[in-house]
Amino acid sequence: MVLRTSLRGANPPALAIGLDVGGTKIAGGVVAADGRVVERMPTFPTPSEDATATLTVLLSVIGELRARHPAVEAIGIGAAGLVEWPSGYIRWAPNNVYRALPLRELLHEATGLPVVVDNDANTAAWAEARLGTGASYMAFLTIGTGLGGGLILDGQLYRGNTGIGAEVGHIVVDPDGPYECGCGNVGCLEAVASGSALGRYGREAAANQGGLLAELAGGAANVTGETVFKAAQAGDETARALFARLGRWLGIGIASLVNLFDFQLIVIGGGVAASGDLLLVPARTSFEQFAFARAHRQLPSIALACLGSEAGWVGSAILALDERNHTRLGLTGATAIPSLT
Ligand SMILES: [Zn+2]
Repeated sequence: MVLRTSLRGANPPALAIGLDVGGTKIAGGVVAADGRVVERMPTFPTPSEDATATLTVLLSVIGELRARHPAVEAIGIGAAGLVEWPSGYIRWAPNNVYRALPLRELLHEATGLPVVVDNDANTAAWAEARLGTGASYMAFLTIGTGLGGGLILDGQLYRGNTGIGAEVGHIVVDPDGPYECGCGNVGCLEAVASGSALGRYGREAAANQGGLLAELAGGAANVTGETVFKAAQAGDETARALFARLGRWLGIGIASLVNLFDFQLIVIGGGVAASGDLLLVPARTSFEQFAFARAHRQLPSIALACLGSEAGWVGSAILALDERNHTRLGLTGATAIPSLT
């Protein structure tokens, strides 16, 4: 048997389709094994009728992409929600209509190609590790409306017993605090350190003291995380203090993760990451304050993500190829990041 790796100079790199199935939209395209995006399709809304509609749309898109790229060898899906690994069985996604959906099995049966289905934050973490940082011990936190994440341990994605672990947004940091999480618990990291939390802090501050936040939004009730960002950029002290509050909570979450896993790098992505130092400086201060044995160790850096909003689907395509190669080579166990020092 001749392995593909031995032919790498002569053949073009393998291709995979990657799709990111979110609560509101589906994004994706075709990616080469070296991470190059070969085609980027326009995003379209996630069907809101039922699971069948979602499956129909996914198969239609896959059919179109395969027609244009017949060399596609695998399919990767990054999906929001609780996704079992390796079965690719989606138990539940809070913002999607489907429940108990064996997506990997259905797509494999319909296409005949190897398919992986993983949580979208996991696939984004995989993209950042494989194509960006190369770190073997890395936590990736994606901060947008919610707060998701993925953990790379010993060069592999860590998913827990059934695949639904690494929910870093639902570490409980403030159980007696006032803030409910979207998951129904109180005081999750997501409830105090996400874009939604920033918007809520902003509405509270604007309702109490008015100021630039209320002015920019046309009323306290309309303030969002974006409003707080704009006000902070304009130098508004109230808005900057809200970022300090958000960053402090984020640093507390990061300290807990580092205390558990001794990461070499923390990577922050998602829409809120665009606020840069407004968030990272207070997060770093708080992380250093709460890190275990901080005087006796070198703490990891906190860096911004490299791949932006495409990380979820690019990572799912790369993961599909990595898993396919892994199986072809007859290896057992989880896929590890290749060529890392
Ligand atoms: Zn929660």
